[in-house]
Amino acid sequence: MIDVSELVYEYPTARALKGVSLHVAPQTITALVGPNGAGKTTLLRCLAALEDPYSGSVTVAGHDTRLEPRAIHALLGYLPDFYGLYDGLSVRRILTYTAQSHGIVSALTTTAVEKAADRVGLFERLEVKAGDLSRGLRQRLAIAQAIVHEPKVLLLDEPSAGLDPQARRDLSVLMVALKDAGMTLVVSSHILAELEDYCSEMIIIEEGKIVGGKAIKVKDVERPRYIVEIANARSDLKDFLSARAGVDVIEADAYHALITHPRSASARARLIRDLLGAGFEVSSFGESTKALEEAYFSQVGGSGKTGMGQ
Ligand code: ATP
Repeated sequence: MIDVSELVYEYPTARALKGVSLHVAPQTITALVGPNGAGKTTLLRCLAALEDPYSGSVTVAGHDTRLEPRAIHALLGYLPDFYGLYDGLSVRRILTYTAQSHGIVSALTTTAVEKAADRVGLFERLEVKAGDLSRGLRQRLAIAQAIVHEPKVLLLDEPSAGLDPQARRDLSVLMVALKDAGMTLVVSSHILAELEDYCSEMIIIEEGKIVGGKAIKVKDVERPRYIVEIANARSDLKDFLSARAGVDVIEADAYHALITHPRSASARARLIRDLLGAGFEVSSFGESTKALEEAYFSQVGGSGKTGMGQ
């Protein structure tokens, strides 16, 4: 859906992207992470056809950003990290204006506006002026603006900034719903634990370059990672698990193993039964929730280097 080849971008005083190449598959949610100043916003602006590369190319759904920016704007939603809203206009007026500027015909505008407002929890506030909204509610309005025309590709720069915990959770659910409805999403954020909830791929950018040269698959929906913990030390834990059908052992010691395994309750039950039958005192067996964080720190070599506190 998105292809970037040897992208170089320069500000008058700095080279912000230094030869970035990447591929984003359709109907995926990709996390874009990296320290402050790494180039995330610049990359998103290039993907959104808002900046022309110094060299290299960016194509979105087959359209080159340099040659067909308007075709890309029509199929893309973009939430910038900083944006302005017309404070004197109501939520409804703002979304109506955005919908019509994307070419949604008048007869369909009300439905599109109300659907977008509902998706971000602003339906009850459709008549409230943007200037009277709190920071988090303004952020929700900006997200609604980015999705009102049901884009094929959605780029979100720090979408959860300013949102309360419930709104953050709702945003995670919304992202997955948008992906399931067919959208391709790229989301920049510093909050790795949150990205974990909905991203399957991660692009790490540092000093204008992609770390490791490509996106990393952090979550396999079909084969998630599980952590097996046993109460009695057994040096044969790894060998035992490796010999089971469908199990891949990522790492193991005498008490723990990190494995991938098909997402099937009956297959998990069978594996636990096998372990208990062989005398392994299973004290816990659960899905690993830190895949993205682990992958990030294994790539960038520790929090001290990245300056990422979360
Ligand atoms: P953050 O996490 O802090 O938002 P970022 O990863 O989004 O950072 P960018 O905003 O893309 O990083 O900045 C990449 C580099 O380009 C930085 O070195 C930044 O100082 C520089 N830069 C960004 N905008 C400009 C500008 N308008 N003029 C000159 N340099 C800029």
